[in-house]
Amino acid sequence: MSDNGTAYDVAKVRADFPLIENLAKGAKPLVYLDSAASTQKPRIVVEALSDFYLKDYANIHRGVHFLSQKATDAYEKARETARRFVNAREAAECIFVRNATEGVNLVASSYAKSRLKPGANIVLTTMEHHANIVPWQMALEGTGAELRVVPIDSRGVLDVEAFGKLVDENTVIAAFSYVSNVLGTVNPVKKLTAIAHDKGAKVLVDAAQAAPHRKIDVADIGCDFLVLSGHKIYGPTGIGLLYAKREILEKMPPYQGGGDMILTVSFEKTTYKGIPDRFEAGTPHIAGAVGMAAAMDYMERIGLANIEAHEAALLSRCREKLAPIPGLKEIGTAPGKAAVFSFTLEGVHPHDIGTFLDADNIAIRAGHHCAEPLMKFLKIPGTARASFGMYNTAEEVDKLATALEKIVKFFA
Ligand code: PMP
Repeated sequence: MSDNGTAYDVAKVRADFPLIENLAKGAKPLVYLDSAASTQKPRIVVEALSDFYLKDYANIHRGVHFLSQKATDAYEKARETARRFVNAREAAECIFVRNATEGVNLVASSYAKSRLKPGANIVLTTMEHHANIVPWQMALEGTGAELRVVPIDSRGVLDVEAFGKLVDENTVIAAFSYVSNVLGTVNPVKKLTAIAHDKGAKVLVDAAQAAPHRKIDVADIGCDFLVLSGHKIYGPTGIGLLYAKREILEKMPPYQGGGDMILTVSFEKTTYKGIPDRFEAGTPHIAGAVGMAAAMDYMERIGLANIEAHEAALLSRCREKLAPIPGLKEIGTAPGKAAVFSFTLEGVHPHDIGTFLDADNIAIRAGHHCAEPLMKFLKIPGTARASFGMYNTAEEVDKLATALEKIVKFFA
């Protein structure tokens, strides 16, 4: 049995993560509460990477030799795993990118830019990560089109009614996070997608912070685009996923040009391959795709619903233990929020909270979390943020509470 009363065996899960296991030993065990920045890696993902390099590695697609075909098979099998992970209709709708950031840039540049004219608009929300703001601003530059921002309330709940008013028939794309990296708010992405589609707008869902915590189902959401990062779902860095509907992708020009995305090249005219190859110019992160697929397999084996339930239990314990701490304020109190706990401590700068906790071997993140517009709305310079992964324990939450009590006493 687990430490939170569910059938989830957190000790068994921790045993899958060598770094967590090793750094949890010794006099001052590490408490890793920074999974929203990046998750630790299970042994099986690291082994998938090393096995691929040691046994199956060659460049893909272009080779006729056996090893190249083996590597190509592994890469395309990873694409099929990604398809299953997000429940896309077909693997060709899954484009491997470097990370969620590159996915947004691809859509902003290849889909949105040419459609942005005076009178047109792009709709974002106040809680977006810079990765889901800056690419749109770059696409908007010099077009005369407008950026619209959907407000949130003081709990961090999105104003759905305002969304319905801001999205109109001139909206090229509405882009919003599934889960906020600061507030933990879980947005009603299916509802928002339906509202946007009613107005004829396309939808991009930033699932960077949702994919680590819950099942992603693009068929159910109905979104046109969705992005996620491998490193936040227990996979390698340098690899991510852009999901897009076939009928949209087929009409999009390539994002980057180069090898592997062409049918024919001449100095007079070049023709491009179909999807997904057209969007994967050059040698991709082949091993990364294999590693991300191993992470997806692993998460599914543990069970997305089990992970979600385990983390929800950690979040409620965190709330219960931290609420009595004098001067501590939880930032983001949307009902049903994900396992991201941002807070401030009266009279203590978030960076100082981070530094003091680090002295106790507790790793959290402090700062604006790449969400400066949200910080401006909240009128704070930043927050301290504890974020949970599948390997965290109730005992670690208690250690956080004890360490924070010490900080409060120190500054009293
Ligand atoms: N969106 C959200 C909500 C995020 O939290 C992050 C990463 N912090 C990103 C996008 C960007 O992810 P990456 O840096 O992996 O591209």
